[in-house]
Amino acid sequence: MTTTLTDRLAGPEPDMLTVDDAIDRVLAAFRPLPDHERVPLDQALGRVLIEDIPADIDLPPFDTTAMDGYAIRAADVEQASKDNPITLQVIGQIAAGKVAQQPLRPGQAFRILTGAPMPEDADSVVPYEDTDGTGFGGWSGAAGAAQAAAETQIRVFAPVERGENVRFRGEVQRRGEIVVRAGSVIRPGEVAVLATFGRPDVWVYRRPRVAILSTGDELVTAAQRPGPGQIRDGNAPALAALCRQYGADPIQLPIAKDDPELVRSALRSGVEQKADLLITSGGVSMGDFDVVKHVLQSEGAVSFWSIDLRPGKPLAFGHLRGVPILGLPGNPVSSLVTFELFARPAVLKMAGHTRLQKVELLATAIEPIKNTSGRENFMRGIVDRRSTPTGETEWTVRLTGEQASNFVTSMAKANALIRVPKTQRVIQPGEKARVLILDWPGLW
Ligand code: AMP
Ligand code: MG
Repeated sequence: MTTTLTDRLAGPEPDMLTVDDAIDRVLAAFRPLPDHERVPLDQALGRVLIEDIPADIDLPPFDTTAMDGYAIRAADVEQASKDNPITLQVIGQIAAGKVAQQPLRPGQAFRILTGAPMPEDADSVVPYEDTDGTGFGGWSGAAGAAQAAAETQIRVFAPVERGENVRFRGEVQRRGEIVVRAGSVIRPGEVAVLATFGRPDVWVYRRPRVAILSTGDELVTAAQRPGPGQIRDGNAPALAALCRQYGADPIQLPIAKDDPELVRSALRSGVEQKADLLITSGGVSMGDFDVVKHVLQSEGAVSFWSIDLRPGKPLAFGHLRGVPILGLPGNPVSSLVTFELFARPAVLKMAGHTRLQKVELLATAIEPIKNTSGRENFMRGIVDRRSTPTGETEWTVRLTGEQASNFVTSMAKANALIRVPKTQRVIQPGEKARVLILDWPGLW
């Protein structure tokens, strides 16, 4: 009997899991890894911190000037104006990294440059623009330095408030307070904070190790020329790249032929190499040569799921010798999409992340996007930005073209997966589609 689209839309087959349920079930089997490592800050990007980091100093560590100008006492220039300039005696210059050797007395000024510590007893900085001081506004070599050193007095043309143009000690951060919390993802901003507060290395979750196994009698490596009936293995290199993209270390196992003994020993070697997750591609559907299924059935605690999903309906998940295993379908698009959906959040969770879902955008379809699969469909799309006639920016989306799961080239054209609900047969031009961006940095 053939099923029509209407039949398929009537409801899922009773044993079919929704994508979201399948993700939940996979995630329930993972915990953040119990072991941690100390890494230099320049290798910490994207890692998850396991310690609270306190500020080891006040920031700024001293009162400092926010401007180039003169450190003074505000009271001295209270009456200053264009018509009534106040003359102050210049007693020296403080550049960033230098410290004044004497306190400031009434009627005096220090030339001071941005970032330099305030001299004792000065309470504010008058910007050089409000004075007749010379030699500011950029590097002018030895002549400039001589001119600055020769300056003995200045006239001030405007008053300042007490504290004006001063950055006070501890105003950014007080010593002892937590500046980055355990569980934080280390991004460039965290790197700046950690370096500022004296952490050249940090404790983070270790990277998960993921063993990757391609199975199939027909497969040869990228370096080989396929003989009759053979194709190159595109999946293992791509799955390894996905692992790296999401912060895991891939362990590449050699291609296994469709022979239970070979698949078994390949998986065993993944376990021996201390994989935290085993990923296979191919061999999990119904064919006689689907030996991965056979091996997992005979020696793992593995379930075979039919997921209400296109591409990638068959999926195996469970444990083998205590190690979680995900059996992905062999078609290239299916294996990459199911990695994104099911392996990615598992890898992130092991690495200590708590935000596991990919960010979804709404994009305006600019062509009809048809879903005749009767399943939730993650179609390959191209997301762009455009300006609307009213001058707003919006995301648009179109298909990459052919959507069959063997069209590996569609993955290279796509920058997004378009998530089309199973009951929606078409997204019309102008309607919004949910999209997951593929080429944003790992966590997006
Ligand atoms: P399977 O899931 O083993 O039945 O494979 C489904 C389809 O995907 C078949 O056409 C295979 O030749 C193809 N395939 C399986 N593994 C790979 C791979 N690693 N790279 C490219 N194509 C593959
Ligand atoms: Mg196969």
